Formats: sequence, structure tokens, C-alpha cells
Amino acid sequence: MRVLVTGGAGFLGSHLCDALIGDGHEVICMDNLVTGSMDNIAHLLGERRFLFIHHDVTNYIYVEGALDAVLHFASPASPVDYLKLPIQTLKVGSLGTHKALGLAKAKGARFLLASTSECYGDPLVHPQPETYWGNVNPIGVRGVYDEAKRFAEAMTMAYHRAHGVATRIVRIFNTYGPRMRLCDGRVVPTFIAQALRGEDLTVFGDGSQTRSFCYVSDLVRGILLLLASDEVEPVNIGNPDEMTIKQFAEAIIAATGACSRIVYRDLPSDDPKVRRPDISKARRLLGWEPKVPLAEGLARTIEYFRGKVAA
Ligand code: UDP
Repeated sequence: MRVLVTGGAGFLGSHLCDALIGDGHEVICMDNLVTGSMDNIAHLLGERRFLFIHHDVTNYIYVEGALDAVLHFASPASPVDYLKLPIQTLKVGSLGTHKALGLAKAKGARFLLASTSECYGDPLVHPQPETYWGNVNPIGVRGVYDEAKRFAEAMTMAYHRAHGVATRIVRIFNTYGPRMRLCDGRVVPTFIAQALRGEDLTVFGDGSQTRSFCYVSDLVRGILLLLASDEVEPVNIGNPDEMTIKQFAEAIIAATGACSRIVYRDLPSDDPKVRRPDISKARRLLGWEPKVPLAEGLARTIEYFRGKVAA
């Protein structure tokens, strides 16, 4: 296949580029480097089947030649980033998705949208199945991301229904691994960096809110299975192994061997109280489930961040 990955220099995008190149495909990686980084794809730049294009996908996307698939992963994805970049976040989810869909339609390519568990907002149904419509505050600070992705899903379904584009939607739950930015504000890099520096771990609220963390290689495998499948409606991909943020902080302290303590800070507004994917659909349709245990994924991630903290 010849595949375009928007946001290809980001955390997930770059791992997808790696997997596609590894499978023998040709990859065009597009990124405006607002939150992505050339460091994530530096090792691919000499590869004959890899091309990087510096472009903001909220503007018309021009790609020469045929395309078999468009994977739309461009977007700030950390709450700190999308609070800092509210308008860019709304634009890439709306205008960027429109441009990427238009390109897929013009090329007769398959389209896959990176959607999110944030579509469920602060969920009133737990765990979250794909059939749940969500509980999102449209005017809250997180609304810029949640509503952009909900719009992106609506636009994707409209291109499927109106234009017959072969579309796929993955709802991605919390994912971690190497290439997350050390200071992107998300809980995994934040806690690991704090532990490695011997600083206190900043738990927001009382730490009773829950999340379920999926290692990046499991996620990428699920996404590629979804791309190859016939399922048009959204599919959750994530790890159903749920824990409180306080338990997660303790796990990071144990895994790093740090002597850090836990300190408590204000809970950001609209922070979801629980989050755990119901992955029955992915199991049934794709034969997918996560394989990497938290201890193993954390060990690999901590190793990566050790180099970054020291640098
Ligand atoms: N969190 C925390 N301390 C931090 C950063 C995040 O306690 O230094 C909490 C945050 O309030 C949320 C959870 O960890 O409940 C996961 O936050 P993250 O920013 O990783 O993403 P989210 O799952 O909220 O999109």
C-alpha cells in the first residue's frame, strides 16, 4: 500500500509509520510539527519508501500519485496541549478531517480516523461500549478536543454515506510508550519524569479517578487490524485494565525505584472520573486484545525517558 499518515511525526503517528514501513508499505508522513517532532521519525528519513512532508492539514492537502489509505492522526492530544492550542485543535479535527477525507475520496483511498475515548466525555456508562453516546461539556475547556473529534466522526460517517468512502473510526483510549513528550502534561510522562528526577508526583484531585493504559505496540496492532477490516462504525481500542491515578502513581514509584512522595493538586475541570474501554467489539471483529502487561510497557517507557531526563 501507499499510505498517508497525518500527524506522522507525533507519538502514535510515528509508531504507525514504523509499523507500516516494517510491513513493506510506502509511507508519506505529513506533520506541521506543532506537537510532533522530527526526532520521532529521524530514523526513517533515509528509507526509500518513506517521505516526510511539512504541512498543516487544515489547509488543502496535495499529494502526488496514488494513495491506498489515509490515516488521519494529526491533532494535539494531551489536555495541556489542547488547552494551549484550542483553536488549532478545533481546526485540525474539523477542517483537517474534511481535507483528509476529501483527499481520500479523490484518490479512492481507505480512510481511518483517529478518534478518542474523549467522545464519551465524563462517562455515565462504565465501562464504555461504542454504543454509548457520551457526556461531553461542549463549552468546557476540554470541549475543543472532544467536540472536534465528535465532529470528525460525524464528518467521516457523512463521507462514507454520501460519497461511499471506505472509512474506519478507532476510538483510542489512554496509550503510553516511548516518544511521548516529556512535558506534554499527560500523566505517564509527567509521573515518570517526576520520579526519575526524585521530585514529588503530582496527583490531581484525590487520585480516585480511573484510567486504563494501553501500550503503544498493542494499539498500533489494533489499528492496523481495523484498517484491514470492513467495520465502518467506531471501534474502541485500549486496555481494559483499569486503575486509579493514585495506584498508577504508586506503580510508577515502584517501577522507577524512586523515593518520591505523592502530593495532591487541584483537579482540572471536566476531568473524567472513570475511563475503561469495553473491548468486546474489537475482540469479536478483529480478534484483538492487548498483550503487553503494564509492568513490561512501563519498563520500556521508563528506559526511554531515562535518556530524555538525563539529556
Ligand atoms: N493527572 C495527574 N497528575 C498529573 C497529570 C495528570 O493526576 O501530573 C491525572 C489527570 O487529572 C487525569 C489522569 O491523570 O485524571 C490522566 O490524565 P492525562 O492528562 O494523561 O489524560 P486524560 O486521560 O485526562 O485525557
